[in-house]
Amino acid sequence: MSTVERQLEDLKSKIIGEVPDDISISDVKYEGPELVVYTRDPKKFAQNGDLVRKLASKLRKRITVRPDPDTLSHPESAREEIMEVIPEEAGVTDLDFHADTGEVIIEAQKPGMVIGRHGSTLREITQRVGWTPEVVRTPPIESSTVSNVRNFLKQEREERREILERVGRQIHRKEMADEQWVRITTLGCCREVGRAAFILSTAETRILIDCGDKPGAEGEVPYLQVPEALGAGANNLDAVVLTHAHLDHSALIPLLFKYGYDGPIYTTEPTRDLMGLLTLDYLDVAAKEGRTPPYESSMVREAIKHTVTLEYGDVTDIAPDVKLTLHNAGHILGSSIAHFHIGDGLYNVAFSGDIHYDDTRLFNGAVNEFPRVETLVMESTYGGRNDYQTDQEDSERHLQEVINRTHEEGGKVLIPAFAVGRSQEIMLVLEEAMRKGEIPEMPVHLDGMIWEATAIHTTYPEYLRDDLRDRIFHEDENPFLAEEFNHIDGGEDERQEIVDDGPAIILSTSGMVTGGPIMSWLRHLGSDPDSRMVFVGYQAQGTLGRRIQNGWDEIPINDRNGSGRSNTLTLKMDVETVDGFSGHADRQGLENFVRTMNPRPEKVLCVHGDESSTQDLSSALYHEFNMRTFAPKNLETFRFK
Ligand SMILES: [Zn+2]
Repeated sequence: MSTVERQLEDLKSKIIGEVPDDISISDVKYEGPELVVYTRDPKKFAQNGDLVRKLASKLRKRITVRPDPDTLSHPESAREEIMEVIPEEAGVTDLDFHADTGEVIIEAQKPGMVIGRHGSTLREITQRVGWTPEVVRTPPIESSTVSNVRNFLKQEREERREILERVGRQIHRKEMADEQWVRITTLGCCREVGRAAFILSTAETRILIDCGDKPGAEGEVPYLQVPEALGAGANNLDAVVLTHAHLDHSALIPLLFKYGYDGPIYTTEPTRDLMGLLTLDYLDVAAKEGRTPPYESSMVREAIKHTVTLEYGDVTDIAPDVKLTLHNAGHILGSSIAHFHIGDGLYNVAFSGDIHYDDTRLFNGAVNEFPRVETLVMESTYGGRNDYQTDQEDSERHLQEVINRTHEEGGKVLIPAFAVGRSQEIMLVLEEAMRKGEIPEMPVHLDGMIWEATAIHTTYPEYLRDDLRDRIFHEDENPFLAEEFNHIDGGEDERQEIVDDGPAIILSTSGMVTGGPIMSWLRHLGSDPDSRMVFVGYQAQGTLGRRIQNGWDEIPINDRNGSGRSNTLTLKMDVETVDGFSGHADRQGLENFVRTMNPRPEKVLCVHGDESSTQDLSSALYHEFNMRTFAPKNLETFRFK
C-alpha cells in the first residue's frame, strides 16, 4: 500500500469515528486539494448541517461530500423535486446531472437564492434527492468565453477527474526532503515590465508563479530553461500559480503544456476565463501579424483543463509543505496576491502580482493583512520617485474636459485600452458622466474584446467592488447595459460608418498600441487633426503606445489588405495622456501598501518595473521602513531560510 493510500485509509477511519453511526462512508479520495467523501447516506449527511464544517476543521482539509452513485434518485424525478425546492425568483436556467460524481450543476440568475441562508436550500436539495448541488451564475450579458469554458469542462469531466486524483496524490505524498530551505529564483520581470515568472522552491517542492510575455518584445520570454524550472524536466514543477490574466503574466502558461507539464494551475475562476479569452486572442494577433505563435489553441484548452480554481481566502494545500491563499489585489477582475505558507510555520512569502492599493470604481483595494509574511515580492510599475498619479476625481474631470473639448472641435475621442480592467473602469466613468450631463450624450463604441471582457465581469460580480456588485444584481441599474455602449462586431465596414458619422468615443484594444483593432483606428483617424488619442493606461517601453506618447508622429503601419508591406502614417490627430486610471498603485499607493501592511515584511523584492522604478522603490522602502530591500535582476536566486 502506498503512503497516500495508507493516509486515505487512516482518514476514512477517522471520519467514520466522527460521523453518527447511521451514516456509512463508502470511500475517501483526493481530488486536487480536496478530500472527497463518498457516502451511502447523503440525505442524513445533509440533515447534520454542521457535520462537513466540523470534519473540515478537525482534519484540516477541504471536504466535499458526494453520494455513492447507486443511491441516487433518477435525474428526471430529481429535477422536479429540485425545482420545487428552489424559489422561482432564483431564475434557474439549467440543471445538469452528473451521475459519475452525484453532482447536479445548477445555473441560475440569482445563485444566492439557490444557496439559501447559510446553505439551507442546498442542504434541502440533498435531503430530498441525494444529489450534491453546485451553483453557477447565468451571465447577465451573454459571454461566449464563459459558456465555452463551462461546456468544455463538462465535456472533459472524466479526464479532469483523473487529473485531479493524480494531483491530489502529488499534493499529499509523503515529504521526502530531510532538509528545510526556501528560495526564490527570478526568471523574468526584473528591472523590466513584462515576462513575469518566478520560481519558489523548497527542498521538497518547486512552484512557478506567473508565466507571461513581454509586450512589444515578443522574443524576450522568461528563462524557463534553468534547472529550477523546466531545465530538469517539465514535471519538475509541482504547481503553477497565476496571479491574474494580463498577458504579461499569463501568455506563456499554455506553453508549459506544450513542454510536457501536466500539473495544476491555481487561480481564481474569473482569471481562468479571462486567461482563456486573452491567450486565444494572443494567438490570433500573432497569426495576423505573421508571427509563428509559440503554441496552438489546443494548449489553451489543456491549461483550462488543468486549472483548479480557488476563492479569495481559501487556505489550500498545494504541496506536502506548501499552503496557498489568494487575496484580492484590486488590479483587474480576479486578480490576486498569492500568499505561500511553507513548512509548519517555517516561512511565509507573498507575491503581490499587480496591485491597486486604493478602491477604484471597479474593485475594492488590495488586501494587505496576512497571518504572517516574512518576504514580499512586490510590483514597482509606478515605483519611480516621481511616479505620483493624479487622484481619481481629478483624472475623471480631466477626461471629461478632454472629451468636451474634442466634441466642440468636431473630432472623435480614441482611447486605447486593455480589454480587461481599464476599459470597464472608463465605461463606468463615461456612463456616470453622461447620466449626470457632465459630457454630451454620444455613442461609446467598444472594439476588440472589450464587450466580451465586460460580459465576464458581470458573470462574477462577487469579485467587483461592493456597491457595483449590488447594482449589477439589479438588472435595470447595471451600468454596463447603458444604451450608449455599442459593441462593434461588424469589422471594417462598421468602423468606416462610425468614422463617417458624428461625435463618438471609441475604446479599442490593444492598450499599448501593439496590435489589434486600434491599428485600424489609427489608419482611420490618425490623419484627422480634430480627433484626439487619449492614453489612460501605462505604456511600456518599446511599445508603439509609448513612442506616440513621447511625440513620435511617423507611425509604421501594415497595409490594410494584409500584404505585409509596411507603410508610414503621419499622425495628425492630437495626443493626450490622462493619468490616474491605472490599474496599478502609484508610488504613494505602493508605499502605503507597505506602511499599513500587517504584519510588515522583513524583506521586499521590488520587481515588475523599469530599472529606475525598481531601484527607487527599493531604496525608498529601505530608508522609510528600515527593512531589507532588493531590486533583483533576472536569473538571481535568493535564499531566505
Ligand atoms: Zn496586470
